[in-house]
Amino acid sequence: MKPLFSILITLWVSLINMIQDYDNLRNNMVHMQLEARDISHQPTLEAMRKVERHLFVPSQYQRRAYEDNPLPIGYNQTISQPYIVASMTQLLEPNKDDCVLEIGTGSGYQAAVLAEIVKEVYTIEIVKDLGERTKKLMHTLGYNNVTVIIGDGYKGFEAKAPFDAIIVTAASKEIPPPLIKQLKEGGKMIIPVGSPSEVQTLILLQKRNGKITKTKLIQVRFVPLTRSRENKNS
Ligand code: SAH
Repeated sequence: MKPLFSILITLWVSLINMIQDYDNLRNNMVHMQLEARDISHQPTLEAMRKVERHLFVPSQYQRRAYEDNPLPIGYNQTISQPYIVASMTQLLEPNKDDCVLEIGTGSGYQAAVLAEIVKEVYTIEIVKDLGERTKKLMHTLGYNNVTVIIGDGYKGFEAKAPFDAIIVTAASKEIPPPLIKQLKEGGKMIIPVGSPSEVQTLILLQKRNGKITKTKLIQVRFVPLTRSRENKNS
């Protein structure tokens, strides 16, 4: 009886240690990789402190989840570097009543960060199995304000348009016109534009009085925005 009891205690203690470890790693990540750079938007920092990035990566990468780089998530896709997630979130200046559209669900991490701040997140993933996996994860983690849609995000999501903000987390050669159309007056879109084989430029697009302004920001590297075969000509 005694050995079993002590084994259970040891397991319990190591589980607690592991959780505290991840909390420490995450707080360090926010401090060293975000605050020490140019992330100062408080809701973004709070969300980055809260969302457990290690739960969004495959188990073999969990110990590396708070490092300053992207990581593979399967299906030839990646979860973005924490700094890029925070930076894109901050640039959108999201508000608590906002409805946001994300193109490129991937692991669901960016969607979860946004969901901590805004009212509603619609996120589109073109790889069916990845989208289904992330849909389940969002449900398990209790993100009831995130809707994962399987489909080609180039077309946006007309059913819930217009959106206060749109975030594209895959590299596109152009800014998809349907997304510009689905952006609310006064809304902001953030999108990496350029060839998928090179570095791309992060562009902030704003719609004011029906006019579109584009600001070129930093150089980034994202996986490509792909098109479904039936949508390629539209
Ligand atoms: N935001 C993600 C990372 C994005 S990786 C995260 O937080 O983990 C880019 C994702 O965009 C990949 O999962 C890829 O399959 C998806 N994607 C590529 N083209 C797409 C398209 N046309 N519509 C929707 N998703 C697309």
